[in-house]
This record gives sequence, structure tokens and C-alpha cells, in this order.
Amino acid sequence: MTEPIGGVLVSISTIIQKAPQKSVPPAPAQGLKVTILGTGSPAPSMDRFGPSILVEAGKQKLLFDCGRGVTQRIEQNKVPFAEVDALFLTHLHSDHVVGIPDLWLTGWIRGRTIPFRVWGPAGTREMMAHLEQAYQFDIHMRRDVDEKLPSQGVVVLAKDVEQGVVYENGGIKVTAFAVDHGPVKPALGYRVDFAGHSVVLSGDTRYSDNLVRFSEGADVLIQEVMDLDAFHLKNPSVSRERVQTILAHHTTPEQAGTVFARVKPKLAVYSHIVPPDASDLITLTRKTYSGPLEVGEDLMSIEIGDKVVVSRHNL
Ligand SMILES: [Zn+2]
Ligand SMILES: [Zn+2]
Repeated sequence: MTEPIGGVLVSISTIIQKAPQKSVPPAPAQGLKVTILGTGSPAPSMDRFGPSILVEAGKQKLLFDCGRGVTQRIEQNKVPFAEVDALFLTHLHSDHVVGIPDLWLTGWIRGRTIPFRVWGPAGTREMMAHLEQAYQFDIHMRRDVDEKLPSQGVVVLAKDVEQGVVYENGGIKVTAFAVDHGPVKPALGYRVDFAGHSVVLSGDTRYSDNLVRFSEGADVLIQEVMDLDAFHLKNPSVSRERVQTILAHHTTPEQAGTVFARVKPKLAVYSHIVPPDASDLITLTRKTYSGPLEVGEDLMSIEIGDKVVVSRHNL
């Protein structure tokens, strides 16, 4: 489903181009810069915040998922809140959306003057409308009574999307595709293409042929993963049966290796790591895949140009 870019978006890019330049180094003009803001899952971890990935291409900054602590990671990464162009959601599980009110409202307090745009699977519009209701007091106070913040900055533009091209602007193309998160439907992955380079984000999924199909030719594949034995060791009170049910929603390292072996990306990266301290991911993946592989860390950045360059951030 193609979302034509109308006058609203054109005027938004104009505003962004006029914004004063900050000291943060820009993404490379001809490549993609991917920063994994949070590599975690529902488990509250101090090292792995909730799932979220920032993709910078040209002048645009697109965010994928908005888990716990995203606002802090954006601040740590020195990304001006006003410059986050749009948020894309893979699915509506709470670990992927629980950071939205913070990003939306704190981003407004920190200077966003344009609407907050959210694309996601069916139910996204409704969820965002409910959030607007839930935060009515704060919105009214800051907009109408106290700070008199710009009214446009708190407006939400939300759209439900399905598999297909969902965003095209400034040479960036974002394609959503269906993945298999067990009974949790709809669940999407995303592919971002820019200047001949590409990154694929698996979203939450078990092994999915559609993920392999949409990843064809991708430079970088960021994949969720669950290590069943490590999870069980960490959570001995959870029954083996329950763990199997959880696993039926996710991908084992061995299965992820099979995905990577079929896609052959220049780099495969794990994020949404369950449990957060799983330590055997590389060894287990090597049973089925021998190519380039990284276990993601919060604020790890991946520059995708002629080469793929990974940088770590000391938290
Ligand atoms: Zn999740
Ligand atoms: Zn999920």
C-alpha cells in the first residue's frame, strides 16, 4: 500500500531543513545510519532498554518501535527531538509501544512544533486516539493554560498500514511486510531502502519465509532472537510448556542462522534479545550460519555505505 506524500510532509521537510544545525554529525549523505536505541524485550534490564531502532538517511530520521527508555536513549544519542520525522510500529505489544507517550509529549516539551506521525499495523490509530484522551490533562495544561506550547507539536497523525510501501520521501522508501508472531496478528517487519543501500528490521517473529523474501539483497538484517535454554535457566519457575509457547512467537539462534544463510546480508545483527543476558547466541547461530554477525547493544550504530561499519557506545 503506497502512502502518497502530500503537502503536509513537504512542508515538514521544509521546516526541518531550516532548523539550525546541531553539533551532531549528520548521517552520511549516500548511506544509511542505523542506531539500535534499545535491544531489549519486556524484561526490565538496565543494559537493554525497550526495542527501538533509529534509521537516518539523508536529512531524515525515522524511528522503528518505541519501547521503554527510548526518550533517554535519544537524548544520549544527541538527536534533537524535533528532528524525528516519523515513528513506525512493528506491532502493538506493550514492550514496543510503552515509550510512546514519553517520546510524544517530552518531544513536544523539547521543541517539536510539527505533528507527531505514527505508522503501524491495524489498531495503531485507535491506540493513539486513546493516548490522546489519556493525556488530555497534560495537553490542555501545556497547550492552553501554562507553557502555551505550540498546538501543532502535540497533534498526532496516525495511520494503520499493511504490507507494501508505506513511506516514500527524499529518496527513502519504507516497506512493511507481514511476519509471523504466532497468534499476535498483525505483526510487521520493515525494510528501508536509500541510495542503493538497505536495512531490514525483523520485528517480533518466529521463522518467517516472508521475512527472507523481503530481505533479498539487503545489506543489513536486524533480527530478534530468543535462547530457550538461557531463558529457562533465568526463569526456572516458568513451566517448560509456557516457555515453548513463548518460543512459538520468536526465533531461536539456530533458526535465525538459517534466515541469515538464506538472505546472506553483509551483516546480521541481533536485537530484541531474550533473555537480555543470553551469552551463547553466536555459538548457537554458528550451527547454521558462518557469515558476519553481531550481537546488538544499546546505542550500537551501523553505518551502511560502501562498507558496513559498526560502532559501539560506552553506556
Ligand atoms: Zn517484543
Ligand atoms: Zn511481540
